[in-house]
Amino acid sequence: MVRFEHEILFTPIPDRITRLRDLAYNLWWTWHPEAQDLYRTIDPELWELDYHNPVDFLRDVRQRKLEAAALDPDYLKQYDAVLKRLDSYVNAKKTWYTRHFPDVKGVQIAYFSAEFGLHESLPIYSGGLGILSGDHVKEASDMGLPFIAVGFLYPQGYFRQRLDASGWQFAEYNKLNFADVPAIPVLDPDGREVVIEVELPGRTIYAKVYRFQIGRVPLYLMDTDIHPNSPQDRQLSARLYGGDQEMRISQELVLGVGGVRLLRKLGIAPTVWHMNEGHSAFLVLELCRELVNNGMAFDDAMQEIRQRCVFTTHTPVPAGNDAFPLAMIEKFFWNYWPQLNLTRDEFMSIALQEQQWGPTFAMTALALRLSNYHNGVSQLHGHVARGMWQWLYPGNSQDEVPIGAITNGVHTASWLAPEIRALYDSYLGRTWEDNLDDPKVWKKVHQIPDKVLWDTRQDLKHQLIEFARARLQQHYIHIQQPAPVWPVLEEGILTLGFARRFATYKRATLLFRDIERLKYILNRPEMPIQIIFAGKAHPKDDPGKHFIQNVYQMATQPGLAGRIVFLEEYDMAVGRALTQGVDVWLNNPRRPHEASGTSGMKASLNGAPNCSILDGWWPEAFNGKNGWAIGEEREYHNHDEQDWNDAQALYHLMEHEIAPRFYSNRDADGVPTAWIETCKEAIATVAPAFSMRRMLSDYVNQLYLPAAGVAVTS
Ligand SMILES: *Cc1c(COP(=O)(O)O)cnc(C)c1O
Repeated sequence: MVRFEHEILFTPIPDRITRLRDLAYNLWWTWHPEAQDLYRTIDPELWELDYHNPVDFLRDVRQRKLEAAALDPDYLKQYDAVLKRLDSYVNAKKTWYTRHFPDVKGVQIAYFSAEFGLHESLPIYSGGLGILSGDHVKEASDMGLPFIAVGFLYPQGYFRQRLDASGWQFAEYNKLNFADVPAIPVLDPDGREVVIEVELPGRTIYAKVYRFQIGRVPLYLMDTDIHPNSPQDRQLSARLYGGDQEMRISQELVLGVGGVRLLRKLGIAPTVWHMNEGHSAFLVLELCRELVNNGMAFDDAMQEIRQRCVFTTHTPVPAGNDAFPLAMIEKFFWNYWPQLNLTRDEFMSIALQEQQWGPTFAMTALALRLSNYHNGVSQLHGHVARGMWQWLYPGNSQDEVPIGAITNGVHTASWLAPEIRALYDSYLGRTWEDNLDDPKVWKKVHQIPDKVLWDTRQDLKHQLIEFARARLQQHYIHIQQPAPVWPVLEEGILTLGFARRFATYKRATLLFRDIERLKYILNRPEMPIQIIFAGKAHPKDDPGKHFIQNVYQMATQPGLAGRIVFLEEYDMAVGRALTQGVDVWLNNPRRPHEASGTSGMKASLNGAPNCSILDGWWPEAFNGKNGWAIGEEREYHNHDEQDWNDAQALYHLMEHEIAPRFYSNRDADGVPTAWIETCKEAIATVAPAFSMRRMLSDYVNQLYLPAAGVAVTS
């Protein structure tokens, strides 16, 4: 049982259901809707008000409601079943890992990431990278990998998105109270708080450590907002991707160097170190420093560290890769390179990049140089990354550059609608989840009766429309304006979803290239279409904010009003509602800028086919029957020409392929049989191959076990 000083703040829980507290402190509940139901059914309104956060909920709930639940036999039956499941999960001796590698002992994987997207109530993620990290940790738990994760706890998290009456995005930062989230302060054997230290120019910074329990996996997050630090340093971990470059290098020092020290302090000795993106790459320096400190020459230390390090690059755009001016590196590391027995120039040369805007110290170069195992996140991205980093491997052709590719996936249980899960439970066989990356399992979706799948999908769309209307209502309350007079969204009609970060390369406004044509396509009386948008622009990305404003204003134009809506604050809850509820998922980035993308995988998993540019993961998945490809598989030199061609291709698909398929061929029950065929094909092809299970078993076989020195034969 978890206990705290602030115990007093909790509503007393009747003995019979006292383990609701334990459950709240294991984020296993985030991917088990039946566990969330244990809170929701006690007080559904409060559950919404507390944004699905069980820790908050247990503090705010009325005692008499808990007492009523403790006397309700139906509730208790559900309660016992969920806790039994949690216990047998946590204590399981047989897991995917023990089944596949019964003889492998002593492996310990440490996974570092700057952000983790675990649940909407824990806003320490900004977008795809964080969602991927969160899914990675959850799946590592499901598979029983020897795995720990390290990152930052940001008291102000990532910003909350608000739009003013003109559709201009502004940021709201709400302070996260750590007593409100399932954060467990980490104590040493003497019961004192674990605090780690990192030297910054002219001072030492301290970070306190919290543990989050993700099923079987511990996630350690550092927080610098503690007493001995100066006010400025207390702000260091305040925000994800906030502040200037100096703030950023400080954060990355704490993440990389501090993260290693944290694990040492806890007595954890990883055999594999995984840097998820370059933000944590300073950790390789700290690992070298440890060896040099024990008397090893730097070059030997580097060889040894390399063998244990894994690095995943995510950014096909040069400007997206962190790189620091040499003067800044000098300021932060002049005291550090002597500890590596290196001169200034030797130190700089480890990660010197002269390709872009003069010499810099590049985190991706550092990570590539000091890891033997590295990968991009889709096959196409692997190719692009080999081109980008070819200069690091003189004498090699692009194809010979040693950067492989493992395509991303999504954590099935986290993104699956409970209603769709019920169908899989009925039709895929009892053990489908044990083998969820096996395509044979998913062939059975074709046995789901068309009408059953159709009705379920229509029900999910209905839920989404209600959700969207409620969100819009909230927005008009915030801006203190009356809600619009036109009907917002229409039940039953073909509904497309577009939600992602509003980075300009994702081209959220591509659909509006030809407004008259769009109006025509959305308003054909026999084949109407509506589109729900959501997405945040980085607080410093004004072009991205203009895109949002553009979409927002389009949604008020005659002919588009009611057919197009923009939902504020794209987060994991909105992401779930959209990917589970729309009919088609839309993605139109400027190829080849999308490293992978995962939202389309979530939609397909729920039976909503993907309509996308052949970028990121989609060229690997698209088979002509499981969704649609916008435009051709080619590169352009002229952006304007590319945008125009892609827009035309998209209009054509919507008008002549997607809408007719949705509205025609209805059987006696009104079910569009050809459409349902596409939905089933999307599920059958995407769910196994683009699952986090498949991704992580590739990581284990191709990266983790080789880095741990284990020979893999499979
Ligand atoms: C899945 C998801 C993402 C990443 O999706 P992309 O396809 O990479 O855009 C970003 N944000 C949220 C909230 C998500 O759920």
